[in-house]
Amino acid sequence: MAEFNSKDTAAFKGVWVFCEQREGVIMSISYQLLSEGRKLANDLGVELCGVVLGSNVKEEYIKALGGYGADKVYYCDHELLKDYTTDGYTKVICDLVEANKPEIVLIGATNIGRDLGPRCAARLHTGLTADCTHLDVDVAKYKEFLKTTSTIDVDNTAFEENTNLKMTRPAFGGHLMATIICPRFRPQMSTVRPGVMATQPFDEAGAAKTVVEKVPVTLSKEDIHVEILEIKKAAKKLVDLIGADVVVSVGRGISKDPEKGIALAQDLANALGGVVGSSRACVDAGWIDASHQVGQTGKTVHPRIYVALGISGAIQHKAGMQDSECIIAVNKNADAPIFEVASYGIVGDLYKVAPMLTEAVKAL
Ligand code: FAD
Repeated sequence: MAEFNSKDTAAFKGVWVFCEQREGVIMSISYQLLSEGRKLANDLGVELCGVVLGSNVKEEYIKALGGYGADKVYYCDHELLKDYTTDGYTKVICDLVEANKPEIVLIGATNIGRDLGPRCAARLHTGLTADCTHLDVDVAKYKEFLKTTSTIDVDNTAFEENTNLKMTRPAFGGHLMATIICPRFRPQMSTVRPGVMATQPFDEAGAAKTVVEKVPVTLSKEDIHVEILEIKKAAKKLVDLIGADVVVSVGRGISKDPEKGIALAQDLANALGGVVGSSRACVDAGWIDASHQVGQTGKTVHPRIYVALGISGAIQHKAGMQDSECIIAVNKNADAPIFEVASYGIVGDLYKVAPMLTEAVKAL
């Protein structure tokens, strides 16, 4: 095997996506990353590979990754990879990267990915940009993106006309978007927030063409410094905000009677077939569980309908919902920033407006 040197940038080729599985089921972030990775691989003219670590993961799940864009899937099957451990997964991923030298490695910014990504980057002597919301290698396309998201003068700004991955992420508490490149080391590694990249429709033909390579895994109990004795799952039912078609969110505007405010949001969500979200203010106040939080440090959603009840529209909240297809904002302050991104704005008291909306929907 050729020696691994992260500074030998010319030796690296291809885009990889770590396809996270839990209990043998591939997580939806993997499909989002493959869809995005496909675009990067097309722009660079290289192969897109998925990487699955696990034990007895169903072959149909692995083959299906081709339907989301993977040309090839490396499947590392070992009983010690059944559940995630930092040591075990880091060793196997790093061995694979050292042997195959991909140019770009994308990992979901899930609890597992946020642990795994930095570990692998440190061991491979490369960099990692955490929590990305946009990725690009095409300079022309990237300039177009900047025009929609930033106030910089795109035409008068120097851009590196090379193929470095441009990794964009919120910085300074979400007040600006920073673009980070990693020009001197490979692979270029990034963790990406779940929910920000769209999943391409499944392509049967792509799934049929995918090559699955079962990788021999060298791993022993001595490589792993923790032992999983038991996995206790949270008893509470977590709300599926990311997959929801309709999200009705509450903000500090419910402070007069939080219980009633949440119940009104739930009624409207039920009428529309959706789920209840919230701003961070409500989570911090203890009115609602953190799994409902939308925004920079919560979930990123893009439902067909997003209703904001008593939410001011802080930049950190908008970061998680402004790509919704239709935004309906209810706020008693006509100057609230949420109205800047709203498709429909209602200036009024949410305790009066929300029941009226629910009745109107029920009457349809
Ligand atoms: P407020 O800003 O207090 O707004 C309440 C709104 O309700 C006001 O506009 C008011 O006019 C209106 N209102 C009051 N009463 C009524 C009524 N009866 N009827 C109708 N309208 C009414 N925030 C998030 O939401 N998600 C995040 O992920 C997130 N991450 C963050 C990360 C960092 C690093 C930081 C620094 C902040 C983050 N925040 C986040 C917090 C964010 O900056 C705001 O503080 C928060 O979004 C404000 O929540 P809010 O809009 O509910 O409350």
